[in-house]
Amino acid sequence: MTKLLQGASGYMIFDRMLNLVSVDMGIDLGTCNTLVAVRGQGIVLNEPSVVAVRKNTNQVLHGGTAVGWVAKEMLGKAPGAISVIRPLKEGVISDFDITEAMLKYFITKVTGKRSLIGPRVVISVPTGITAVEKQAVFNSAERAGARRTFLCEQPLAAAIGAGLPVTEPQGSMIVDIGGGTSDVAILSLGDIAVCESLRVASDDFDSAIINHMKRKFNLQIGEQTAERIKIEIGSAAPMGDEKTMEVRGRDLISGLPRKTVVTSEEIREALLEPVTSIAEACTRTLERAEPELAADLVENGITLAGGGSLLRGLGVVLQNATGLSVRLADDPLTCVARGTAIFLENIELLKSTLESDMDV
Ligand code: ADP
Ligand code: MG
Repeated sequence: MTKLLQGASGYMIFDRMLNLVSVDMGIDLGTCNTLVAVRGQGIVLNEPSVVAVRKNTNQVLHGGTAVGWVAKEMLGKAPGAISVIRPLKEGVISDFDITEAMLKYFITKVTGKRSLIGPRVVISVPTGITAVEKQAVFNSAERAGARRTFLCEQPLAAAIGAGLPVTEPQGSMIVDIGGGTSDVAILSLGDIAVCESLRVASDDFDSAIINHMKRKFNLQIGEQTAERIKIEIGSAAPMGDEKTMEVRGRDLISGLPRKTVVTSEEIREALLEPVTSIAEACTRTLERAEPELAADLVENGITLAGGGSLLRGLGVVLQNATGLSVRLADDPLTCVARGTAIFLENIELLKSTLESDMDV
């Protein structure tokens, strides 16, 4: 044994042994939700990317545990001294310390406090983040106890999770509509050929609904109510069965609570602008692709992932805008996390497409 551990090859064997016992994990650091997948166990954590902090000190409440579901419940209902923050809201890391606290909480929750050997983690990050933000993610993972950290780009993880043949010499197109960003990418030979990260996504559907309620009904509604309207009656194209929904909020003139009824037609009209922006990002990306890759897409079509892709009729709108066939990935909310788990299983093969903490 001691002999085995001597020299470089000894170190490699030792490292492989560590790999066998450590709880390696893939993390989808999303603007709305963070998911963790563990090798051999699938998705073990799925919580909102939300943190509740005390305003004056920026300390995470409840001794560092007001993260995820606990924090989301406080959203829009917290008293003045408490801020409930989504640290990745716009697809960039707006607050390093809070992102770090969140990552640390999630990693520790999965490994358990007493884990002796730190995990190797593959974290998928939004494509738009800067070198400084990447470094912040590396540092956070290290401080959370990770032994090795790799970063992969979210569209690549989404495409792998959706089962697209990304390593083949042929074009595949993925559109991952998250909360804060929509990532449109064309992939080939295991890498991104063209991509665009648009800061218009599913959160903007909610804002459009909030604005509509203000303009048409003088009714102020919260983000959670707007999200419920979107999920229950929202659509991007007529789906045959138009619906209505009762909505409660605060009257902007009297200041008092009031309710009203909205229809799916008017919500569709309110969503037209952000939906059109996403369709335009798809056509722009297609225009920038090499002709051979574009030609492949006539066969392969477009695959949608991310929670935003669940908006009814979105596929129809994108199909009309691009002329390509559009399909929804299986379980679109977990595509990226499942993709990072596949990265983990093939870490030796895929190392070249990952950025490692040893490179920076
Ligand atoms: P991110 O990757 O940015 O964390 P997700 O892929 O987890 O985002 O998607 C979250 C978004 O998906 C939220 O804006 C949420 O409202 C939206 N969403 C989730 N389920 C549905 C649904 N059934 N219909 C429409 N939108 C949905
Ligand atoms: Mg995502």
